Amino acid sequence: MNNVYQDGKGFAKSYILSYTEMTDQESSFPEESFKELGEKGFLKLLVPEEYGGYGKGLVEHAEACLAFAETCATTALCYMMHNVALMCVLTHGSAELKKRIFEDVVENGKFLALGYSEIGTGTHFYKPEITAEVKGEYTTFNGTKSMVTSASYASYYLVLAPSVEEGKINNWVIPLEEDGLTFASSDWQGLGMRGNSSCPMHINDVTLHSSNRIGEEGSGEEQVFNVVAPFFILGLGAIYSGIAVHLFDIVSHHAVDRKYPDGRSLSNIETVQVHIGQIYKQASVAKAMTLDAAQAGANGDADALAKILAARINASEAAIDCGTLAMRVGGGKAYNKALPIERLLRDAYAGQVMAPSTDVLNVWLGKALTGQMIP
Ligand SMILES: Cc1cc2nc3c(=O)[nH]c(=O)nc-3n(C[C@H](O)[C@H](O)[C@H](O)COP(=O)(O)OP(=O)(O)OC[C@H]3O[C@@H](n4cnc5c(N)ncnc54)[C@H](O)[C@@H]3O)c2cc1C
Repeated sequence: MNNVYQDGKGFAKSYILSYTEMTDQESSFPEESFKELGEKGFLKLLVPEEYGGYGKGLVEHAEACLAFAETCATTALCYMMHNVALMCVLTHGSAELKKRIFEDVVENGKFLALGYSEIGTGTHFYKPEITAEVKGEYTTFNGTKSMVTSASYASYYLVLAPSVEEGKINNWVIPLEEDGLTFASSDWQGLGMRGNSSCPMHINDVTLHSSNRIGEEGSGEEQVFNVVAPFFILGLGAIYSGIAVHLFDIVSHHAVDRKYPDGRSLSNIETVQVHIGQIYKQASVAKAMTLDAAQAGANGDADALAKILAARINASEAAIDCGTLAMRVGGGKAYNKALPIERLLRDAYAGQVMAPSTDVLNVWLGKALTGQMIP
């Protein structure tokens, strides 16, 4: 895989596009696309070469998420979560855990998900309230994770739980087939991202051996802020940039194609031209900021964190702004769903509430820019 963005665009055209509408209308998880993501190597993008993967990093993660989101935000979001979870295993997992999970990804096309948020702590997902009772080498978990994207479809769920060390947390891997793990699938009624299956996951007396813990006892918070945060926050930046780019694509074509009886098109109207220019500017800035932040993160630049936070905040806002303007340009055809603009706007609304929400991130950005501790 040499040019991940271009390869991702080609993949999306061949294996995502035809399911996109059904994914939204029937709220169905994009299973066929995920089968192909495994077959064509995208699930192993970040898996190290020594385990049979491509060994790529933050830049390629952003490029793949962006490319997929320019066609289907749901598929891109589910894929993004997989990459983030994989990175935790890669950076902190034991040799045995890496071998087990990477082999399953590379050879069997299995994928991962993040079961972090809870009803109580909400957007502050790094403060888990589920219980973890330790007996020797085994820990028994009880509680509920509130919104788990790819729920029941992913084969491994990363779960944050309290550590035995006061005030610390652990990051665990729960395999799908574990006794006591159930999903409330019908509870996912998302405004957008409808194929995500982001439903509650109930954990009832799930007992795991310590080999399922990622990293040293109490290392969960370090993983959240050093691994999950950059890959997740940047990944969301890529997804909402992709939605904005997709909106420009739809609206610019529609403006040219929609003809009035006198032969003039929508694109001949000056106000429409201004709106299209505005959508183009915002989408282009969102994409450029995301790719620039990815490069800064990969280089380890001093301002990488600020760039990643800013890119994600900007992209989430740009997607909603572009969607709102695109609805206006699309007119009755957009309102009556003859154009997919309303779907993209519904998808875009997830951006501002996904943890850490844009309100929280705006505070974090100010802290990052003034050298203060986050959170
Ligand atoms: C499409 C989608 C997919 C998701 N997938 C997953 C997943 O795979 N895994 C997972 O773990 N979670 C997932 N989530 C959950 C998500 O990440 C959040 O945890 C969840 O949306 C928080 O909801 P809440 O109502 O509890 O938010 P609350 O915590 O009640 O916050 C509501 C709002 O209050 C404001 N707010 C709260 N605290 C602050 C603060 N300190 N400063 C400023 N403003 C603040 C913000 O505006 C925030 O949006 C998903 C959510 C969505 C929408």
